[in-house]
Amino acid sequence: MAEPRSFRAEAVVLRHADWGEADRILTLYTREHGKLRALVKGARKIRSRKAGHVEPFTHITLQLAKGRDIPIVTQVETLDAYLPLRDDLTRTGYAAYVLELLDRFTYDHDGGNLSLFRLLADTLGRLCRGPEPWVVVRYYEMRLLDYLGFRPRLFACANCGREIEAEEQFFSPTAGGVICPRCGMGLPRLWPISVETLKYLRHFQRSGYSEASRARPTPEVRKDVETLMQAYFTYLLERSLNTPGFLKQIKS
Ligand SMILES: [Zn+2]
Repeated sequence: MAEPRSFRAEAVVLRHADWGEADRILTLYTREHGKLRALVKGARKIRSRKAGHVEPFTHITLQLAKGRDIPIVTQVETLDAYLPLRDDLTRTGYAAYVLELLDRFTYDHDGGNLSLFRLLADTLGRLCRGPEPWVVVRYYEMRLLDYLGFRPRLFACANCGREIEAEEQFFSPTAGGVICPRCGMGLPRLWPISVETLKYLRHFQRSGYSEASRARPTPEVRKDVETLMQAYFTYLLERSLNTPGFLKQIKS
């Protein structure tokens, strides 16, 4: 049987780029196929009926036709424009960070991941409504690590396996988790982590969203949690971004 020439998708627009005279290329995270790119013809013309639906942070349904290189958007409808994200610079910034993280950790044609898609759409919705965007984003980071296969070990030492006690610990990006003070002596590339910071990381890891969202850490702990998570993401990205380049080198 021939492959169908058109298909439907539900997606969040991650970003767009100008293409040719009047077209636009979208980078989408779809419910059905994971990340994919699609062409919107004439999207930059003043009268384009599609233009408003294809801005970043929009949840849409589309009809796509298989093109020669890249699918072409033939119909598009908005499910949620997440309008509050556009009116408030702090929320816009957080939403941009949420999209960027997903974009950088996923590759075109690596298949759909329904959990990731739901997490993305839910997170953008929560950023619109919630009074605490900081909590929404930390919860998102922790779930994202789960779904990408980088769940950090926070309850037992990632080196000796002993249960972590209520004391100052280390975090090892290479080992992917907490290292107890005994193992920490002499191991390279460790970051100190306080009891309070670890408490909140664990809370985000083991709680569902409604429970997680009740967290109200002090400004100091917020800063520490954020710094540690950003450093861990940076470490993982450097590691995983090297892989596609390496694969390309082998193929060429
Ligand atoms: Zn240990």
